[in-house]
Amino acid sequence: MSSPLTFTHSVAERFLRYVAIDTQSDPSSSTCPSTEKQKDLGRLLAAELQAMGIQDAHLDEHGYVYATIAANTDKTVPVICFCSHMDTSPDCTGRNVKPQISRNYRGGDIVLPGDPTQIIRAEEHPALREQIGHDIVTSDGTTLLGADNKAGIAEIMDAAHFLINNPQIKHGTIKILFTPDEEIGRGVDKVDLKKLGAEFAYTIDGESAGNIEDETFSADAATITIEGVSTHPGFAKGKMEHAIKIAAAIIDRLPKDSCSPETTEGKQGFLHPISIVGGLEKATISLIVRDFTDSGLKQKEDLLESIVKEVMKDFPRSTYRMQIKQQYRNMKQVIDKHPEIVENAMEAIRRAGLKPVKASIRGGTDGSRLSFMGLPCPNIFAGEHAFHSRLEWVSIQDMQKAVRTIVHLAMIWEERA
Ligand SMILES: [Zn+2]
Repeated sequence: MSSPLTFTHSVAERFLRYVAIDTQSDPSSSTCPSTEKQKDLGRLLAAELQAMGIQDAHLDEHGYVYATIAANTDKTVPVICFCSHMDTSPDCTGRNVKPQISRNYRGGDIVLPGDPTQIIRAEEHPALREQIGHDIVTSDGTTLLGADNKAGIAEIMDAAHFLINNPQIKHGTIKILFTPDEEIGRGVDKVDLKKLGAEFAYTIDGESAGNIEDETFSADAATITIEGVSTHPGFAKGKMEHAIKIAAAIIDRLPKDSCSPETTEGKQGFLHPISIVGGLEKATISLIVRDFTDSGLKQKEDLLESIVKEVMKDFPRSTYRMQIKQQYRNMKQVIDKHPEIVENAMEAIRRAGLKPVKASIRGGTDGSRLSFMGLPCPNIFAGEHAFHSRLEWVSIQDMQKAVRTIVHLAMIWEERA
């Protein structure tokens, strides 16, 4: 069933206004939000929501925007929340974004006019094949675009506007949440879930139209501390056991054709050294461990320890200590307890005229943290592509499909209540 609703889309117009505001976050800052300029967008969004008639819309002191679309049904419907992040990646400048629209895309490469060395090549961006006839928005090649995640923000804003102006569409209470600092991993640090008052949430921050992601990595950090035996190098024969060399031997024995970021994809996990610090007497190796299951994590950590033990046999007077620290867990563990969250989203995607595709994320999201904080939260597509780069792009038609998905999702929760 495709959409029987009549949409008058203003999502592109909203999107173009939001990307003009620089909201880059900064990992070296300790404040929240990490950059004050994120509040420039937050203030605008709160004012626009107010203008739609949402009286409780506001920007709080930490840079979060909260708003409630009141229920218009007699049924008891679970309170759901739509969430996107306002900041853009520190990897690429987001200042003075000059969006360009390639109307009615006919295939082939897109050369960005502000820096013609920046070319979105069709062969490197296979998702462009699905975009024939669409209007593609890019930057001019000198900045990122900010579709990650301002596409999601524009989509939620447009869906809110649509629901408020079409009271014949029945829905329960809907919460809107816009967060700062997602790109630096702090997007939910200061969120007030009690104030938000939602039972289930959806981040609108995914890639291709139709995608829904209900899985993330599970993540641990592993630290191996080696104590070697130090002596004067002139008198070291048969005595010295060099901690740096022990660390190097451990790294050298890590699997070379598997179990690393550069040799895995899909549902495969890895062991990944991120730093070695030390000297003759003591060295510390820090690694991250990633897998989709707890047993997969355990197996990788056991493999790591067996490698360390094997190496240590050659250094009988040296010692090691291995510590494992949990970082985050696959949100599927939480989301699977409420199968209706994903089922309703898949049906909404279908009603928006798309084929739902369930996918997993080789990383963590705000949604994975929210899920374990008590707010189960899968991720729905926003249409963003090639994010964190000057080649970032999004199609207006995909953004429109995301708006329809959000509206249908609100209706489906009411319908099924
Ligand atoms: Zn994002």
